[in-house]
Amino acid sequence: QSQEFSQVRIDYHGALLALQEHGTRMVCTGKMHTDRICRFDYLCYCTEAEEFVFFHSNASVMLPNLGPRRFQPALLDLSSVEDHNTQYFNFLELPAAALKFMPKPVFVPDVTLILNRFNPDNLMHIFHDDLLPIYYTMQQYSDLDDEARLVFMEGWSEGAHFDLYRLLSSKQPLLKEQLKTFGKLMCFTKSYVGLSKMTTWYQYGFVQPQGPKANILISGNEIRQFASFLMERLNVTREEGDDYIVVFKRTTNRLILNEAELLLALAQEFQMRTVTVSLEEQSFDSIIQIISGATMLVSMHGAQMITSMFLPRGAAVVELFPYAINPEQYTPYKTLASLPGMDLQYVAWRNTMEENTVTYPDRPWDQGGIVHLEKEEQERILASKEVPRHLCCRNPEWLFRIYQDTTVDIASFLDVLRETLKKPNLKKAKVASTVHPGRVREPKCQTSVQATNEAKLSVSWQIPWNLKYLKVKEVKYEVWIQEQGENTYMPYILPHQNYTFSENIKPFTTYLVWCHELREQMA
Ligand code: UDP
Repeated sequence: QSQEFSQVRIDYHGALLALQEHGTRMVCTGKMHTDRICRFDYLCYCTEAEEFVFFHSNASVMLPNLGPRRFQPALLDLSSVEDHNTQYFNFLELPAAALKFMPKPVFVPDVTLILNRFNPDNLMHIFHDDLLPIYYTMQQYSDLDDEARLVFMEGWSEGAHFDLYRLLSSKQPLLKEQLKTFGKLMCFTKSYVGLSKMTTWYQYGFVQPQGPKANILISGNEIRQFASFLMERLNVTREEGDDYIVVFKRTTNRLILNEAELLLALAQEFQMRTVTVSLEEQSFDSIIQIISGATMLVSMHGAQMITSMFLPRGAAVVELFPYAINPEQYTPYKTLASLPGMDLQYVAWRNTMEENTVTYPDRPWDQGGIVHLEKEEQERILASKEVPRHLCCRNPEWLFRIYQDTTVDIASFLDVLRETLKKPNLKKAKVASTVHPGRVREPKCQTSVQATNEAKLSVSWQIPWNLKYLKVKEVKYEVWIQEQGENTYMPYILPHQNYTFSENIKPFTTYLVWCHELREQMA
């Protein structure tokens, strides 16, 4: 490893001089620590102290220069999870003159993106918190290209799906632990610190019960672009063959106990081939290959369902929930499937029959065991028919219920599918375009008085500039007419570019008129 940044690739002496003379420079975006990403020249890291170091010289820049507010609570979030107090980034400061007394720095010549992965053992977290944010942070800064170096500072080992992180750049990502092998002081020639949160759609319930983020900024288009990028890197091509259903099963916990029966029922109901996949039995790329051509994905709630982003448009996502779990309260996959432009159909089924659930009170607490709890609390949990709303992450009732195994009641399962799914041909959903018309141009009003109690108001306008380039089926305009001083208005929906109003128009009165185009139905 330590050969990797062989210092011949950069002019070592020149780099050292630049660091001594110019010190560290930092320029950031973002008003708050939660939306900040910083770019550094010569940010250093002391591997013994496990601290980043900012070297001050006459030429250093630190923008924003927050003074002590840099610690209230942090300069920025190092992971994409908002304001999590284990994910804060800051640095220590030293005068550049101190370099004379410090170990010789090792320079990292690559443009580097420094971040924390949030939970690299869980596939949902890997995609939602890490891969998508990293991918789109890299898109935001053009020098974070395929040659960029990723540095993961959360301190975990590689984790079960490290290969996925390797796809994001041609250089091997570095873990915090590995930095030690390069020397005592590392200096990143050019680096970005922090991740864009623009792509995340879900909050995990640290301050309020989990749910979709309040202001979702990503659409299905960006998810699908990212999914295509990964598929390309994995050498997976979508197969456009026959229709089939995929049941994504878990093999160690949260099991479907009557899998064979479920498969048979699905095959009969939809007259389709039905296959199963699991993370334990298939390689990740072969799973993506299978899912990318599927008409329907059926799975117990769980991280493996993040792979629904690889489904073709129009496909259905069917999420199963164990007994006493309310599907409305755990919606990372529903939110994903429902993003505008994702074009997936989503259905949730929950087990309402207690006799069809298998509980595991004796397991360790983190797999849902409850025997460590007070007897009374155990009894309360066992009697409860629904897990009440709760915060992340150690609610024993939630863990107890979510790790149950389930015998899926086929009749009620097929019922919700029949109710909710649009047949025929699930896969071929219409791709709706989402181009917005501009403003209407040259709006004009003309008035004429017919009699003391009769007047006309003619309104006309030109079409929005971009409309003539759009293939639109139907255009409608909305006109609002408000008598000055009144706080209500009359809305009209009009198919043409001009209209003369005579009803409700009084002479010698001032009217305020608004006109805009309604969103189009694109051809
Ligand atoms: N997992 C799996 N099979 C299992 C149980 C778990 O593949 O039988 C995977 C799961 O998809 C996730 C990771 O192991 O990536 C952690 O699972 P956990 O139950 O902790 O998280 P959840 O799926 O509830 O998010």
